Amino acid sequence: MKKFFRKYLLYVLFVLISIFILLLLFTGKINQSVSDFLEGMEDKTFDLRQEITSSKREHNKDIIIVSVDDNTYEYILEKYGEWPMPRYIYSDIVDFIEAQNPKLIAFDLLFVNPVKKAQNNYDEKLSNLFKKYDNLYTSIYFDEMEADLREPAKLDKKLTVSVDNRSKSEIFSEPNYKPILTSIINNTSNIGHINTKRAKDGVIRDFIPFVFYKAQQDYFPHISLLTSLRVLGSNTRSFTIDKNMNLRFDDKSYPINVTGSMFLNWYKKKDNVENESTVIYDNISIADIIKADELHKNGQPTKFDNIFKDKIVYIGTTAANLGDIKTVPIEKYVPGIEIHTTFVNNMLDNSFIKRLSLECDIVVTVILSILLTVFMLKVEYSKINYRYLAPINIVALFILLISYYLFSLWIMQHHNIWVAVIMPTIGIIATFMLVYIMRYFFKSQDYEYTYRLATTDGLTELYNHRFFQEKMIECVENSKKSGKKFSLILTDIDFFKKFNDTYGHQAGDTVLRQVAKILKRHVKKTDYVCRYGGEEMSVILLNTDNKKAIEIAERLCKAVSSNICKLSEDLEVNVTISLGVSTYPDNGSTPSELIEYSDRGLYAAKENGRNQVGVVEE
Ligand code: GH3
Ligand code: MG
Ligand code: MG
Repeated sequence: MKKFFRKYLLYVLFVLISIFILLLLFTGKINQSVSDFLEGMEDKTFDLRQEITSSKREHNKDIIIVSVDDNTYEYILEKYGEWPMPRYIYSDIVDFIEAQNPKLIAFDLLFVNPVKKAQNNYDEKLSNLFKKYDNLYTSIYFDEMEADLREPAKLDKKLTVSVDNRSKSEIFSEPNYKPILTSIINNTSNIGHINTKRAKDGVIRDFIPFVFYKAQQDYFPHISLLTSLRVLGSNTRSFTIDKNMNLRFDDKSYPINVTGSMFLNWYKKKDNVENESTVIYDNISIADIIKADELHKNGQPTKFDNIFKDKIVYIGTTAANLGDIKTVPIEKYVPGIEIHTTFVNNMLDNSFIKRLSLECDIVVTVILSILLTVFMLKVEYSKINYRYLAPINIVALFILLISYYLFSLWIMQHHNIWVAVIMPTIGIIATFMLVYIMRYFFKSQDYEYTYRLATTDGLTELYNHRFFQEKMIECVENSKKSGKKFSLILTDIDFFKKFNDTYGHQAGDTVLRQVAKILKRHVKKTDYVCRYGGEEMSVILLNTDNKKAIEIAERLCKAVSSNICKLSEDLEVNVTISLGVSTYPDNGSTPSELIEYSDRGLYAAKENGRNQVGVVEE
């Protein structure tokens, strides 16, 4: 039981050590590129999960995209002979949509200062729209332009928000700002940034609600944060990020991650996205609205007459040849505007993805690894046929992995939670291999123990008779090949029967152990001292000729006779031994010939008065 417990403890210890190594790997303490690689793999599993779960999530039908698509591009070039589109067209479109009372209209377009002076009238018309409609929103953009190339402009304080950051989260920051028409800024505070952030692989998974504008030390909200607030009926401009990484305002709370961004949760794609200019949301071409507007002005009905009522309308480019195409987890080519509408949608559903912390990943990995370890040990100690052990363990490994993957999918689908997949996978597989390695380690330990048991004499702890016989055969063979000599000493305790009769068998045993110890102490570690039988012992001396062997035998004889064995407080005894020596190949060429020769020497010693090394009379 104790041994079993120790085994469990060792296994668990090894699991914990391997998890510690994993931790070092994942946090980049060992090698940054390895940890980046693992993070990248984890991101890919996120994309796969999003691909699957998004197909079950319906988007908000109140969100409509009015797009500058490929049709619009061709239509405008043909009709007006210029590009970009004259800005008054946007004014006409806004008027057309506003006539239907939409919830809001947001421009995912930058109305930067025009290059051509001639457009200024149009710009004024556009700017005035923002005075006319308080539900009209537009964009600004922050970038990394050097200050000596473009002096960072001051932005009106009314556009800022306050962010009380009580977490370890870092807010995305940029040094410069790309100016838009000041006339628009003068007319509205419905202005937010449209910055996005790509991961190392170019995929946009998270969304930045605020940009910290370094030149001004102010926070600016994303345009979609502002539009979401409007739909939610909030006009707050102050936000808190609490210690538990939640973005809070009013009574609302949304998960935010350490980089100050929020993981978007994607929605079901349209059926044939290849032929569409948007991937998820309904899309109306600006060209079609221009045509409808003309019909409308002539008093004719159009198919767009009543579709914008209470809708959240986003206006922006979707045409691939106009840029602003991004890669997101569910699709390679997505117009940037759909990232913004997806954010609004996530805000309205409160369905952002919460990425669990590294600590949680570790706990999950430890639990799974220990679960697997316990299972594998249970199977090992059950009565299952040994042949089935490996298949059962492999099946268990796969079942555990697959069920965990299904769990990770389920929890993303139903609870918007991103649990790590790569770390637990590596942890589980490492555990599996570790248990196998440990098993062989213990097996070899067991084997060694059994081997010792089979070759050792219990009383004297010398090699036993069987070992002696095998070793003799081996020595003869080795010497035959190498031509080196070896010798054998046989010893027998003198008058041991009498000793036993006088002091008892227990005292006899004590003396036997003592003699064994003395013999061992007086020969080399590489020599073999064995219990031949009864009170007879043998010593195999490797690479030793007859002269040297006799010398050693004399030494052993003296050592035993001079040793005083203390049996009790007032009883000290002393025994002597007789010895016989033989040498290969001088006195024999087989084990039995050598044993017989030594025996004859031993007999001679007994005859000659004992306590000596006998010499065989030829
Ligand atoms: P000799 O000098 O001629 O060798 O006389 P001896 O009495 O020693 O004769 P022998 O070698 O034939 O005696 C063997 C005795 O050794 C018999 C037995 O009492 C004792 N003996 C053998 N094995 C053990 C053992 O494991 N423990 C003890 N206490 N005595 C043993
Ligand atoms: Mg004997
Ligand atoms: Mg004897």
